[in-house]
Amino acid sequence: MAIGTAYCIHQIFVDPNTQRLEDAEVNAELAQYEAARERSVGDLRALQAKVESQVGHNEAAIFAVHESILRDAAFKDRIRQWIVKDRLTAQAALHRLLNEYASLFARTKDEYLRDRLNDVRDVVVRLSARLTKVLKPQSSPLAGPLIIVTDELLPSQAIALGDIDVKGIVTQTGSQTSHAAIIARSRGIPAVSGILGILRQVKTGDTVIVDGRDGHVTINPDSETKSAYRKLEREFFLLKDELAANRGAPAATADGQPLELLANINNVADAKAAKAMGATGVGLFRTEYLYLTHRSVPNEQEQLTAYREIVKAAPNHTVTIRTLDLGGDKTAPYLGHQYTEANPFMGWRSIRLSFEHPEFFLVQLRAILRAAAYAHELGGQIRIMFPMITTLEEIHRVRKMVRRACRQLQDESKPFRAVQLGMMLEVPAAAISIRTLVTEVDFVSIGSNDLVQYLMAADRDNPKVSHLCQPLAPPVLHLLTDVVRACSEAKKPLTLCGEMAGQPRSFALLLGMGLRSFSMSPSFIPTMKDLATHLTVTDAGEILQRALKLKTTARVRQYMRKQLATIAPNLALLETD
Ligand code: PEP
Ligand code: MG
Repeated sequence: MAIGTAYCIHQIFVDPNTQRLEDAEVNAELAQYEAARERSVGDLRALQAKVESQVGHNEAAIFAVHESILRDAAFKDRIRQWIVKDRLTAQAALHRLLNEYASLFARTKDEYLRDRLNDVRDVVVRLSARLTKVLKPQSSPLAGPLIIVTDELLPSQAIALGDIDVKGIVTQTGSQTSHAAIIARSRGIPAVSGILGILRQVKTGDTVIVDGRDGHVTINPDSETKSAYRKLEREFFLLKDELAANRGAPAATADGQPLELLANINNVADAKAAKAMGATGVGLFRTEYLYLTHRSVPNEQEQLTAYREIVKAAPNHTVTIRTLDLGGDKTAPYLGHQYTEANPFMGWRSIRLSFEHPEFFLVQLRAILRAAAYAHELGGQIRIMFPMITTLEEIHRVRKMVRRACRQLQDESKPFRAVQLGMMLEVPAAAISIRTLVTEVDFVSIGSNDLVQYLMAADRDNPKVSHLCQPLAPPVLHLLTDVVRACSEAKKPLTLCGEMAGQPRSFALLLGMGLRSFSMSPSFIPTMKDLATHLTVTDAGEILQRALKLKTTARVRQYMRKQLATIAPNLALLETD
């Protein structure tokens, strides 16, 4: 959470000047436009180098895409033509271009394509700013810390924010897959999105509180609220410092039962954060991000390079790589997502999509198996897990694909290493048949985000049904208890990598079920490590037994809040009710 002064960015970058050029002005206007374009290319190159060194190679790639838009012949020719033939000023030509693209893209429901419109808009804004010689909003006389309030944060703006004292971000639109959201997250800036109409309610200079815990934004709070939040903010900092001290200590319960705390990552920067936060490995590498930042499917060499970079940066060079989990809300046009599904989360997503694209799936498997040889060289290891497994046949099918990839690599004399193969448990049907499925895999990882949404039939991204999509719901707890028991009886390693692994109340209950391996956002690791030191295995077991007798989610929540207040009062401020 953060408190700061609002800085509102309205969409006023391009001036739709309707005035026509005189004949004598055309050449000068063209020259000015070309100069602005050249300088914009220079800006983008500098940004790319900066992001590459500060954040990572994949995040920097977007600026190369922007450069290619600037160099695109169609883009260049149209602007030139409008200046020369229609006598438009360069600014007005840019405005016309943006409008054309916007109406073209307006008809698409495809989130990925809409993000590409943002890339075009970003380039136009940059050019326009170069034309008027104002580049960034930071000529603002406002003193930090600032809370940026905007419709949608553009990727290059998110990067430029690194130079200003930005404490929080609020956007009217945006999604978790837009580049800006990903960059903000990796910088640890609290960001709340989807606050429709906020630009009409807040103005630059207002005081704003962003509470990333529950997605709350408060405008011009009264002095009581403000001082309560200031106090909370101080406590957060103290807690963070205090907890960070446990970085090097092994994770264990109060009675010395060792635990495995792993990290969920999307990129190399996250892998570095995982190490800094004391994770002992990566429990979930979401490979979609690699695909979403490419214009087409990344080839085997590109994937191999990316996986090696991750392995190199990861704690103990140990990484569980999840194969492509596109579909649902994450779509890529080049994988056939041109049409809209009525129920995308129950449709053609994840492993189902990979099966229909064996040529791409095989490339990913080959790249991972080759990277596994590198991990082994460094003393670590790679495991592969498959998302959204629903049936036994699917497990047989992925095993067959992996065998095929190994055979190919062997025939080509390319170094690779056989790896453990696991399933993500995200579908209730798979949870019910876990005793059959578990015998056919080397390990299991519970994807509780999806498991809870499917079990409760409540979309995880829809605030209207969030009261149902709850990890502490009694049916969820009963099902998880059974899954943990089944995997333990089968002596198969089990991890949980959904959001609940990093939530104190759920963590304590999972510990009580007998779970010993957890994978979460790197920033939650110090907190869960601390919480474990307050709990013995017996205590956690007793807490779970009592929780399993409660009949409503509200009662479980209330019960767990009270338990945690007694067990670990220092962590109470991390959860809102
Ligand atoms: C999950 O479903 O719990 C999970 C970890 O995967 P994702 O959040 O990427 O769907
Ligand atoms: Mg999932």
